Amino acid sequence: MSPVYQHKMNTMHLRVTASLLAVSLWGQSKLDPMRPHPNMPRPIAARDSVWLEELTWLEVRDAMRAGKKTILVPTGGVEQNGPYLAAGKHNYILRATAEAIARKLGNTLVAPVVPFVPEGDLNPPSGHMLYPSTITVREETFERLLADIAESFKTHGFEHILLIGDSGGNTKGMASVAARLSRQWAGANVTIHHIPEYYDYPGVKTWLEKQGFIQKDEGIHDDFAITSQMMTVDPTTVRMKERMAAGKFSINGIALAPPEKTIAMGKKIIGYRAEVTVAAIRKALAK
Ligand SMILES: [Zn+2]
Repeated sequence: MSPVYQHKMNTMHLRVTASLLAVSLWGQSKLDPMRPHPNMPRPIAARDSVWLEELTWLEVRDAMRAGKKTILVPTGGVEQNGPYLAAGKHNYILRATAEAIARKLGNTLVAPVVPFVPEGDLNPPSGHMLYPSTITVREETFERLLADIAESFKTHGFEHILLIGDSGGNTKGMASVAARLSRQWAGANVTIHHIPEYYDYPGVKTWLEKQGFIQKDEGIHDDFAITSQMMTVDPTTVRMKERMAAGKFSINGIALAPPEKTIAMGKKIIGYRAEVTVAAIRKALAK
């Protein structure tokens, strides 16, 4: 027997033994990476993040044990957003708003932003699908995706699942999934809600006008609220430098320079949206 073969046999024997142990003792053996013991201690301090995908499974487990049993599921989109904004506009905005909502609500984690939403028909293309950069999913695909995500969180013992969407095409699917699963889960220890109050750009516009930001519509799929929120996350997503160089660093008649001022306003908008959304969530959960 060659040493390499012998080594392979030993490894295989170890693996078989490990998986047998894992089956009988549920991963008490440290040798099966797929089945760590569900109660194994966390060997290091936990990281402070509300984003589920940034946490280890142990950090999520311990956050849930400490009472973080609400999960926010944000849906964004990838679409045509005029000549300046990155196609992932809604996904970038949600990085800021979903985190603000979760922290304000408390005891809440945030699922990865769902980037794929209905944006128009595939064939023949309609809506934003008439432009490159856009990704669409059929209504049924979107609803199945959301339902599977929600089922995952139900399995893990979350008590409240909250759906918010930053774009119009997301609304119908979220509402119908929340309604269907609510019926299906009646009597179970989990609730699911679509929070339509989050998606209220007319409300944001009115709020901005009260702060003195009056926009003159330039006719592109972009505005001051959108741009300033994106700039809080990453000014490259609104092409700050390139627009400055071209003398186009404004939107709907509002100057975007100095960036610090626009970013401060973006943060205020995010705070306002978080406040409105958290109030709506509290109302929905109290029912
Ligand atoms: Zn949109």
